[in-house]
Amino acid sequence: MAADLYADYVIVGAGSAGCVLAARLTESGKHKVALLEAGGDDRPLHEPSQFVSNIMIHTPIGFGKTLNDPKVNWLYETEVDEGSGGRSHKWPKGKVLGGSSSINGMLYVRGQSADYDGWAQMGARGWSWDEVLPYFRKSENQERGENEFHGTGGPLSVSDFPEEHPVSKAIVEACVQAGIPYKPDLNDGNQEGCSFFQMTAKNGRRSSAAVAYLHPAMKRPNLLVEKRAMTTRILWDGKKAIGVEFRQNGETRRAMAAREVILSAGSVESPKLLEISGVGQGALLKELGVPVVHESPMVGENMQDHYMIGCQAALKEPHHSINELSRGVKLLGQIAKYGLTRKGLLSYAVAHGCAFVKSRDELAYPDIQIHVMAASMDLEYLNQYQGLRLDKEPGMASNPCQLRPESRGSIHAKSPDGMERPRIVPNYLSDPLDRQSVVEQLKIIRKIWQQPALEPYMEAKGDPFGDTDEAMLGYAKVAGGTLYHAVGTVAMGDERFPLDPQLRVRGTHNLRVIDASAMPKISSGNTNAPTIMIAEKGAEMILQDAREAVAA
Ligand SMILES: Cc1cc2nc3c(=O)[nH]c(=O)nc-3n(C[C@H](O)[C@H](O)[C@H](O)COP(=O)(O)OP(=O)(O)OC[C@H]3O[C@@H](n4cnc5c(N)ncnc54)[C@H](O)[C@@H]3O)c2cc1C
Repeated sequence: MAADLYADYVIVGAGSAGCVLAARLTESGKHKVALLEAGGDDRPLHEPSQFVSNIMIHTPIGFGKTLNDPKVNWLYETEVDEGSGGRSHKWPKGKVLGGSSSINGMLYVRGQSADYDGWAQMGARGWSWDEVLPYFRKSENQERGENEFHGTGGPLSVSDFPEEHPVSKAIVEACVQAGIPYKPDLNDGNQEGCSFFQMTAKNGRRSSAAVAYLHPAMKRPNLLVEKRAMTTRILWDGKKAIGVEFRQNGETRRAMAAREVILSAGSVESPKLLEISGVGQGALLKELGVPVVHESPMVGENMQDHYMIGCQAALKEPHHSINELSRGVKLLGQIAKYGLTRKGLLSYAVAHGCAFVKSRDELAYPDIQIHVMAASMDLEYLNQYQGLRLDKEPGMASNPCQLRPESRGSIHAKSPDGMERPRIVPNYLSDPLDRQSVVEQLKIIRKIWQQPALEPYMEAKGDPFGDTDEAMLGYAKVAGGTLYHAVGTVAMGDERFPLDPQLRVRGTHNLRVIDASAMPKISSGNTNAPTIMIAEKGAEMILQDAREAVAA
């Protein structure tokens, strides 16, 4: 039997949040941290068994490969979802150092200032926009330089899209012609507008949480990183978390925490770990047969995700599209270009341009996001295998999603066995407002596609959305899927929520959850930057508590 580990803090999961925490908590050298990650190393030379997968992680276009690569991806499957056409959805999540930040689309989006003011209103005191902005700035190394909204000198590299592809540029121009203002900075708290995305990248390479935070910290003697270490339950002394049990190389081991256990296993695994350890809904704990530590009805509930609709159109000329660049001699040219300049196709994030739009004039903030691409995918293949395969014919895409859906899903443990996957119920489009929203989204896309900027590029064949609202809803149900942003399953807020605003698990001691599950309401956009912000702020709360404990 391998020896137990001892540390001040035990962190479960080396994803977007876990990497930030491991780096910040070990920075002073005063605290010993053990970081347990179910997946392997993300560096090609450190993990020969997944050498090619790891090369794909660090090359932006490799997203299309890691999206369904089991070596670095959990590849969850949801329950059959009636609201989205009676389908089971594939849900990729990173299983490797860096977690989902190692396989994500690299789009840097913070959301609306109103999102965070809304969190504070829900009882998450201390999380208003003015109070979270310093942590967005702290994390950031913004290529454009510093200003009141952006920071430089932080670990996370944020850079402009490497090249403005003519088709993506034309779609952004069409957005402007359709009445959406051009706005170069979509991350200053007020999103309304359109332009090109910024990416979490540096010199054409991915800036994951592992690259930005963890790798530099791994040189520290007070940080121990255990890979292929699957945490299976929390260990208690009464209601005090004192460590965790984990499986590694076929053995059961323990990591003991003198100060705190921190769950950063992501929105799918963090609620499951709480439940199989005795924190959750009373009836479920009984069903699982686990001793009750604390009844907490909202654990695993409140799941929110962005449901994105695939909206694609054919292009007149093959050479206009990325589909064409990705084959044969042209692809070889792009590989050479990337090798020499770190630019070209291989340096592109998954989407190029972005628009934040109000579906109704009376709204205070945009409620719809559009992801713009100079490429079209085989949607059937994407939905069936969660794999990206480019269409044979040249195409472009303008994929919308509703930013703050009303529908709520859930994620709960199916069995007390920590190695088993939980049950994921997405409940997409279950709320009438969300069904109305998808129709509005398709009408906005139709309007954008009718603008003169797209005439030189787009085949004038119309669109496949249908003529009636009912037909449009029908289209959205079959042509949509996850934008990979599940959040909210162990949320912070007032007494109704499992976490207090310090991210501590109510009804327990020495236990926090710090990852995307802590969001009480989904942020208006892609969720990586907000998760990193949560971890930056969470780390400071933990360190402050440690300082106070020493002073007391
Ligand atoms: C395919 C994809 C594309 C995305 N694209 C974007 C994008 O372009 N922009 C954006 O802003 N956001 C994007 N996101 C979302 C964003 O990456 C996530 O919201 C964010 O990474 C969540 O961070 P997290 O720390 O909560 O979880 P994760 O980063 O998923 O980390 C959880 C970690 O815990 C580990 N773990 C889980 N269970 C255990 C256990 N029992 N024991 C030990 N370790 C465990 C996992 O292996 C993983 O490494 C994308 C996500 C995906 C999956």
